[in-house]
Amino acid sequence: MNFQAEVSRLLDIVAHSLYSQKEIFLRELVSNASDACDRLRYAALLDPALGESAGPFKILLIPDRKAKTLVVADNGIGMNRQELIDNLGTIARSGTAAFLQQLSGDSRKDMNLIGQFGVGFYSAFMVAERVEVETRKAGESQGWRWISDGKGAFAVEPAEDIEHGAKIILHLRAEDEEFLEAARLKRIVKAYSDHIGLPIVLVEAGKEETINTASALWTRPKSEITALQYKEFYHHVAHSFDDPWLTLHAKVEGILEYAYLLFVPGTKPFDLFDPERKSRVKLYVRRVFITDEGTELLPSYLRFLRGIVDSEDLPLNISREMQQRNPLTAKIRQQLTRRVLSEISKKAGDDPEEYAKCWENFGAVLKEGLYEDSENKETLLPLLRFRSTERDGLISLDDYVSQMKEGQNALYTISGDSLDLTRKSPQLEGFRARGVEVLLMTDAIDEFWMPAVASYKDKPFRSATRGGADLDKIAPLPEASGAKPAPPQKLQSLIAIFKLALGEAVKDVRASQRLTDSPVCLVAEEGDIDIHFERILKEHRQLESGAKRILEINPRHPLIERLAVLVGESGASDRLGEFAWLFLDQARIVEGEPLPDAAAFVRRLAHLLEEGLGEVPTRA
Ligand code: ADP
Ligand code: MG
Repeated sequence: MNFQAEVSRLLDIVAHSLYSQKEIFLRELVSNASDACDRLRYAALLDPALGESAGPFKILLIPDRKAKTLVVADNGIGMNRQELIDNLGTIARSGTAAFLQQLSGDSRKDMNLIGQFGVGFYSAFMVAERVEVETRKAGESQGWRWISDGKGAFAVEPAEDIEHGAKIILHLRAEDEEFLEAARLKRIVKAYSDHIGLPIVLVEAGKEETINTASALWTRPKSEITALQYKEFYHHVAHSFDDPWLTLHAKVEGILEYAYLLFVPGTKPFDLFDPERKSRVKLYVRRVFITDEGTELLPSYLRFLRGIVDSEDLPLNISREMQQRNPLTAKIRQQLTRRVLSEISKKAGDDPEEYAKCWENFGAVLKEGLYEDSENKETLLPLLRFRSTERDGLISLDDYVSQMKEGQNALYTISGDSLDLTRKSPQLEGFRARGVEVLLMTDAIDEFWMPAVASYKDKPFRSATRGGADLDKIAPLPEASGAKPAPPQKLQSLIAIFKLALGEAVKDVRASQRLTDSPVCLVAEEGDIDIHFERILKEHRQLESGAKRILEINPRHPLIERLAVLVGESGASDRLGEFAWLFLDQARIVEGEPLPDAAAFVRRLAHLLEEGLGEVPTRA
């Protein structure tokens, strides 16, 4: 059978690029063996028929100098034929396609990415020219052999007299025979796999020697665990290869008894926003792995955390569904959530630069907590960080409030798809002229939490692209342009002519306080849906037609001034009406909205340009 195309590409990179870190293949195979034992231990709890064959679990490392093979064997759950094909021939992990698209062909950069993604089983091909897997699934009678040279195809055939579990046989390349040396294997296991809770046994010359500590890491006293061991445990549980940003390890005693070892990852997983993505924190009951699927040990807005929770109180034979409804799980979740948020808050206070990294990775997810978890809203609000129009870097809501202008009584925000474009919005001009800071909201989630939170320290959130921005209560900065506005009466008449010409196309036409350089812009009525949010909804087909907009015109703009002068001249109304349409379309373009009638816009523009150029001079 052929490998899935993605696997072939991955294998190619893995085989050619990982020179310096070849030894991590062993960590990967040991990690898989340990997972397989965990799974059989749990399956045997639910199915007594399996119980007879289960345990004592161990992982064997068997180097053979004559055959030049290294065997990594376990007595775990094993695989049947279909599982062999699915697990060792394809990558079903969500996010894989996106990941592969990011590969550049530059092997150094790609290795960084793969490091994050994890190379898993396929890393065996870094040291082996051929890999065989002999395996039998616990509870089934037929065994199987999988063979591949890692170059595009693999074979699967029935095999007899196979123990349940899996035996990975690596036919080492000549240059990789160092991995047959006992001392080398011991060093690698100590460095990468000491946290594994099962014995890892080196078998040589008929002698067996356990070469790891062989107790679950989280049961050991904190003082005896090194930073490196924590990190390697994180790599194992998270199937991810970055450095954790935060490590939380504690034992809780009292009415509820449990231990937890949780990590905030240092990088963003590829599938963070995959709607299918569930919490991946693993549940153990008294050292026995139960499940990592849909555990409700943390709320969904903390779904980026990885690690384990080991409960002393839940029943061992608890089913996956039962754990989700168990009141003890809910209690643990409540306590863990508080603990995690308080530790993140502490780090945010102690080291803002470090916190910025965490925020860039997971901020958009944390924001979901603002409307999902009202109990912790007050803890979450100070964790928020924003970019703003007036400052570089990330600021908090407190930073914002401390810089508010006299007369300002709202937290101004503007929403958009990208920071760059949003910063250029004409609606911001009047805020700039007054030195009023506006928070830039570029996560889609912002449109959901802002209405839910509504205010901070009694100051409401208010969109800079909506009606009542109340800018007239805030004094302009001294250097702001002192251009004189159009005379009020003429301006009123101009507005009336615009309104008449545009009719149903707009909700209203008004003089603007928020413009300084642009002649016009569109804003939403105070109670109406935000312009940017409306566009998001339309893109997702959640909305057919939006609310009508208000066209604001800038009384200080030279163009508007000139037009106001025309008011009252004979035949001016028709010409001014054409201008009204040109202005409206111009405002739509700046807003990034499609023009309902682009042809009409082009016709008007051409006509105006022609007029501007005057008569065609007749040639002599
Ligand atoms: P990951 O461990 O991140 O899932 P791997 O590439 O390491 O990715 O392994 C792929 C899959 O192959 C595992 O999820 C598991 O289902 C299966 N597998 C690997 N090694 C073993 C083993 N020793 N016993 C049983 N299943 C295994
Ligand atoms: Mg693995």
